Amino acid sequence: MPVSEFYRNCHIKICAECGHKIEEQHESYLYECERCMNEKDE
Ligand SMILES: [Zn+2]
Repeated sequence: MPVSEFYRNCHIKICAECGHKIEEQHESYLYECERCMNEKDE
């Protein structure tokens, strides 16, 4: 089973950029992890 499938089945979001797990504390509309978002802010 692909890792992305595993996360989807567990209702865990992963970053669209690097595939890192996104913590559930963030709003549901986020699709990138904090690190990728911070890099784009610079
Ligand atoms: Zn990321």
